[in-house]
Amino acid sequence: MTAAEQRPVTALRGVGPALAERLQRLGVAQVQDLLFVLPRAYEDRTHLVPIGALVPGLRASIEGEVQLTEVVYRGRRQLLSRLADGTGHITLRFFHFSSSQQAGLARGTQLRCFGEVRRGPLGLEIVHPEYRQVADEGAPLEDRLTPIYPTTEGVAQGRLRALIVQALGELRSAGVREWLPRAILETLQLPTLERSLEYVHRPPRDARLEVLAAGRHPSQRRLAFEELLAHQLALRLVKETVQAAPAVALRDARGLEGRFIDALPFALTGAQRRALAEVDADLAAARPMVRLVQGDVGCGKTVLAAAAAARAVGSGAQAALMAPTELLAEQHWRSFDAWFRPLGLAVAHVHGSMGARARRSALEAIAAGEVALIVGTHALFQEGIEFARLALVIVDEQHRFGVQQRLALKEKGDRRGETPHQLIMTATPIPRTLAMTAFADLDVSVIDELPPGRTPVKTVAVAEERRAEVVARIESACREGRQVYWVCPLIEESEELRWQAAEETAAQLAEALPAVRIGLVHGRMPTAKKEQAMAAFKAGRIQLLVATTVIEVGVDVPNASLMVIENAERMGLAQLHQLRGRVGRGAAESTCVLLFRQPLSAVARERLHAIRGSNDGFAIAQRDLELRGPGEMLGTRQTGLAQLRVADLSRDSDLLPRVQQAAEVILAGHPDIIAPLTARWIGEGERYGRVG
Ligand code: ADP
Ligand code: MG
Repeated sequence: MTAAEQRPVTALRGVGPALAERLQRLGVAQVQDLLFVLPRAYEDRTHLVPIGALVPGLRASIEGEVQLTEVVYRGRRQLLSRLADGTGHITLRFFHFSSSQQAGLARGTQLRCFGEVRRGPLGLEIVHPEYRQVADEGAPLEDRLTPIYPTTEGVAQGRLRALIVQALGELRSAGVREWLPRAILETLQLPTLERSLEYVHRPPRDARLEVLAAGRHPSQRRLAFEELLAHQLALRLVKETVQAAPAVALRDARGLEGRFIDALPFALTGAQRRALAEVDADLAAARPMVRLVQGDVGCGKTVLAAAAAARAVGSGAQAALMAPTELLAEQHWRSFDAWFRPLGLAVAHVHGSMGARARRSALEAIAAGEVALIVGTHALFQEGIEFARLALVIVDEQHRFGVQQRLALKEKGDRRGETPHQLIMTATPIPRTLAMTAFADLDVSVIDELPPGRTPVKTVAVAEERRAEVVARIESACREGRQVYWVCPLIEESEELRWQAAEETAAQLAEALPAVRIGLVHGRMPTAKKEQAMAAFKAGRIQLLVATTVIEVGVDVPNASLMVIENAERMGLAQLHQLRGRVGRGAAESTCVLLFRQPLSAVARERLHAIRGSNDGFAIAQRDLELRGPGEMLGTRQTGLAQLRVADLSRDSDLLPRVQQAAEVILAGHPDIIAPLTARWIGEGERYGRVG
């Protein structure tokens, strides 16, 4: 440990308890932590721009003399100051200002300002520029590019910059610990940590702003590598922590799994068999399985879950299936019930609309071990239900089930302290390297094949001008007894706007289609209402469902064979593919109409082309990652990786395989550096629960 790593930030000049507390919000406790508050952007303040040469949109340093400063009322009170340098003049506009600030801007004062130039009512202006008084012309300019840091309330940019410069001073004298083994650094040909930090905080004036802005400088890449590695190691530790606990080895002495599979009205696909073999091998071991099963919509993940559940029951234990919504839980319960009842097994369904007595007796049966198969929502666990011998937890649509929840499951299980096996299922195909990074605490199985006999969804792109034809098509589909989804733009800024747009669309469609029964779901509706509408659609009482929210992942309405997606040109590929998966679940040929507005951007054209050309979720996910990056694909909650400081999963995706290799090397040969590395990048490790 070096001095900077041990010293609390209060050791720095001017940092008292109050500031220390605000710095804490940036994850800064030790002096060293300041070095890892990394710039989110850079600005070039190394030269002055003559005021006469300014244009709107430019971010520039200027210098001039104050000609006039006055407080005016234009809607609200504001301070205007006119600055001139002989080539022209510009207005500085302040909405928040003190009287001493006003006094400091007296006529004749020489100022240096930095800010973004825009067109205002009095000509060019800068709103709330950064500025300072300069004694005379020719005061020295910045000799380096200026880093812009993420700030938090109460820590101003200038303050933070000054603190980081102090911390860099300590870095130079005391050094900062290089945790990465030399062999790794050498193979990667990346600069040392010290040089990287110095560079990113104080880039020389000839540094290329575009390269820095794009995060492509070797120093940034070096830091991104270390950050990704730290996350990878933290997640691997989570996995080790979970798997360190004992689990019941599910050997299925009763042979229930085999009987279950033999009784199915269909044969498993090759991909299902492969994934199930991986699951079975895990379940037969006395350490908890933590496995993610990825497979496109309709590939048959539920059967796999049921087969695993049969193995648990055949081993004398319980299995619970959790779905994200009541409706999905009910759907799963129906499938399970249909499959298990003929085998003489009851399936408990715990749900919100149960009467108090029915609920109590269900919970008692679960606690007594009288029922072995339990289906419900995630609330099953939040409510502290007791299980007699829970050996397998199946989580459907895991995007709402993050690392914390996975860790918390350790607390469940049975009274003998055995941790249940975890099977997590998702219909969001995620490219392999990304999955290995974001879900490094899970083993992954992939079902990359659909059951035979499915008719692929026909996808067509139709320009907005031909909307009337699309509406006519809805009418004929409904007349033939089919059902239709209409997905409203998901692009509006606020849920409020989306909801308004959806109401309007529903009203227009109702007017154009008087004979069609129309329903509406939007994000502003209470969950119960949403589920009611979905259930009515499922039951056929609603023929056309207008929706804003991404329609329930996994809800199966085989009779729905037409989907219209508005403003499809603005949506990501993975999202379009997910939506499209809601149709094509029955025997009838289904169609997905992508309504788009002209003119199409090159990327939009590319996306519409890709989605029309492929029904393969993995191919689409890969293309989506290339076109748009992983943010949308992964959502934010399920992985802590969403809060990366320097790394960017799409920009730095080429680093990922090397990150994994390095993690292997470290786990095998240098386990002692895991704790300091994760502490450096992830803080106390809180985000991933009790790691290490
Ligand atoms: P998802 O992977 O989207 O959750 P489901 O498990 O809901 O898919 O399966 C979709 C449909 O396909 C269900 O009706 C299921 O019974 C059926 N199915 C699953 N596996 C097969 C198979 N091997 N052959 C034929 N039909 C299958
Ligand atoms: Mg499903």
